[in-house]
Amino acid sequence: MSSFGGVPMSMDGMGADWLISSANKCIQGVPGFAFVIARRAAMEATGGQARSLSLDLYDQWREMEDKGGKWRYTSPTHIVRAFAQALQELHGEGGLERRHERYTENARRLVAGYECIGFRTLLPADLRSPIITSFLYPNAAFSFDAFYTAMKKRRFVLYPGKISQAETFRVGTIGHVFPEDIDGLIAGTAEAVEELGIGFE
Ligand SMILES: *Cc1c(COP(=O)(O)O)cnc(C)c1O
Repeated sequence: MSSFGGVPMSMDGMGADWLISSANKCIQGVPGFAFVIARRAAMEATGGQARSLSLDLYDQWREMEDKGGKWRYTSPTHIVRAFAQALQELHGEGGLERRHERYTENARRLVAGYECIGFRTLLPADLRSPIITSFLYPNAAFSFDAFYTAMKKRRFVLYPGKISQAETFRVGTIGHVFPEDIDGLIAGTAEAVEELGIGFE
């Protein structure tokens, strides 16, 4: 879902029949639609199963197959146009491998800078992805809300979603974001940590 277009992968290699992703992840389009890449036989077997009208994937697929790419309801024209542009930009960047390298460098810099400030990652390096990185709360009294606000004031919006098994916050490194932006993020974080008087246990 989150890594398609930014991490090399093969559906054959994974034995996957279905791949679902969104226009606004590593392809770097704007939000507005999701897409599914499916094994044809698996898709054909799903006719009539949907319990939702608007989320009937089979129906949408048939409409597109039978009517020259037509959407069932109002087409999200601007979003499709932006997606086509995003695919060109992916190609212009040098393709998926180059984009993967940029994201990997973004994440490497992020972790190095955050560790210098005093943060620790939830996962060891061999389990981390270049998409998003979870950091442990620096101390038991840490207020993510205050930290989030202090960062947003500096134009950096952190990912508010938190996993359930540990006290963590997450920082994403995908999108039109470059290593220099990560350096700015680290500098902004150091300021916020100072302003809020955050201590590290
Ligand atoms: C991004 C994401 C979503 C939300 O999809 P959008 O098309 O961006 O609204 C849902 N689930 C996962 C796992 C995601 O990464």
